[in-house]
Amino acid sequence: MSIRVKSLFPWLASLLLCLSGQSATASDAWFETFKSSAGDADLYRFLYALPKGGDLHNHLTGSNFSEWWYDLATDQRLNGGYQYYTRVRINNCSGYGRDNFGPAPYLLYFRNLQGSSYAALSDCEKSEYKKIEALDAREKAAWLDSIRLDKKHEGREEFFQTHWQRLNDLGRNPHINAEMLVRNMQAFAREGVTYLETMEGTRFYKKPDGGDYDPDEVADIFRQRLAEPDALATGVTVRIQYYLLRFIGNAEADLEWIYHFVDRNRDLFVGINMVGREDNDKGYPLRFLSTLRKLRRDIPGIPLSIHAGEVDEPNQHVRDTLLLGATRIGHGVNLINDPDTMLLMRNSRYLVEINLISNLLLGYVDDFSQHPFPEYLRTDIPVALSTDDRGMWDSNMTDEYFVAMKEFNLSWEELTALARNSLQHSFVDRDTKAKLLQDYEQRLERFKKQFQRRGMAGLGDVVPRSHGFTCNHYKLCEFSTLVTAAN
Ligand SMILES: [Zn+2]
Repeated sequence: MSIRVKSLFPWLASLLLCLSGQSATASDAWFETFKSSAGDADLYRFLYALPKGGDLHNHLTGSNFSEWWYDLATDQRLNGGYQYYTRVRINNCSGYGRDNFGPAPYLLYFRNLQGSSYAALSDCEKSEYKKIEALDAREKAAWLDSIRLDKKHEGREEFFQTHWQRLNDLGRNPHINAEMLVRNMQAFAREGVTYLETMEGTRFYKKPDGGDYDPDEVADIFRQRLAEPDALATGVTVRIQYYLLRFIGNAEADLEWIYHFVDRNRDLFVGINMVGREDNDKGYPLRFLSTLRKLRRDIPGIPLSIHAGEVDEPNQHVRDTLLLGATRIGHGVNLINDPDTMLLMRNSRYLVEINLISNLLLGYVDDFSQHPFPEYLRTDIPVALSTDDRGMWDSNMTDEYFVAMKEFNLSWEELTALARNSLQHSFVDRDTKAKLLQDYEQRLERFKKQFQRRGMAGLGDVVPRSHGFTCNHYKLCEFSTLVTAAN
C-alpha cells in the first residue's frame, strides 16, 4: 500500500489492510494507554461514542424495552387506536386442568389482549383483566418486569415460554411495530449504529376489530413510517429479514410463502432467517434443504442468515446450515465443538453473529470465560457483535462492546473489525453497502483523531444512555435509565 493511496483514500486503505489481515495503523499505542488507565465509566462513554456499524441479529419484537411497550400500549394516537388489557389475577374461571403449555397459557399473569380479544372472553375471564393504563404502581412495575430477563432465577424457559406469550396481541399491531422500528433507530443512532437489519414478518397482524391485515398492507405501513422525517433524521438505514419459525408443522410451506414474499419486496426485505429453539429437533436444519433447492430453481438468490449452534450439546447444525445456503450463522456457540466446520469458516465469507449477553442470560454459557467468541475472532473466523433481543435483556449495542472489552481485552484493530464486518456481511444492496462502509471509515477516522488529540474531552457532550444489564452485571449504574441492581 503506497503512502499516496493511503493519504488519498484513508478508509479504502484501512479496509484493504484489514482484509489482508494486517494492522491498519502503525501504532495503536494510544488505545492501549487509554485501556490501561480508563475506569469502567470512561470505557463505557468511549464505547458509546465509538462509531459502530450494523446490528445484523436483532429480533424487532424482542428489541423493545418494557417502557416502550408501556408507552405504545397506552397511547392510542401512536398505536393505531387499539385498546389493550392485561391479566392481573387468576380466578379459575374454567375450572382446573386448562392447557398451560400451548400458545395461550391460562396460568400466566400479564398476558396482553387487544380489545377484540378481550370482548370475546367470558365475564369471569374479563374480571381477570385490567386496561394497561389502569394498572396501579405495583402492577405497572410487575408488568414492566414481566418482559425483562433481569433476575437470577429467570432464563431460557422464562424467555421462550412466557415473554412472547405475554406480549401476545401487542406484537400483532403493525403500527406498534412500525413505531418500535423508529424508536430502535433513534436509540441505535445515539450510540453510533448506522445500519439495522432486523427480523420481522408481515403475517398474523390483527386489526382493532380482530380482522386480519393483508401482508402487503403491513409492509406498506412499515415503509411509510420509515419514510417519515423523524425516521430519516436518525441516519440509520433499515432492512428486514423475514423470519421463519422453524419447528412448526407446516414450516416448509411457510418457507415457500416467505420466499415469494421477500422476492416481491426486495426494497425492504433483504433476507430470510430461521428462528426458534434449536433444542426442538423438529426444526433441524436439513429439514429445509429440498424446499430451498426447489425455490432456488426458479427465484433469484435470497440471502439466508440462520440461527445455528445456539444449543448446549455438540452437533453439526452449523455445517448443515451452511449446506442450506446460509452465509451468516446466528450465535454459533457450539461451532467450537465442530473442528471441520471451524476450519471451513476460517478466512471465509461466512460470518458468525455473536450475541454475548443473550448467550449468558439464556444459559448457553455459564460465564463469559466459556464463550467461544475470542477463539473465533482470533482464528480469523469473521464475527460481528449483535443484540438479539436486547429489550428483554435490558441492554444495548454498547453493552455488547463493553462486555467484549472487559472480558476479552480487544485491540483497536479487533474492536473496529467487528463493526466493519457487520457492514461487509450485511444483506443490503451493493451501492448502499459501499456508502455505509465509506461513512463508517470516515466517522471512525474523525473519532480517532479527536480522541487522540483531546482524550475524553474529544467525546464532546456524549452522555451514554444505558439500561439495566451493565448496572446489574458490572455494577456500572452511572448511565442507567433504570437502576434495578436486581442481582
Ligand atoms: Zn436470535
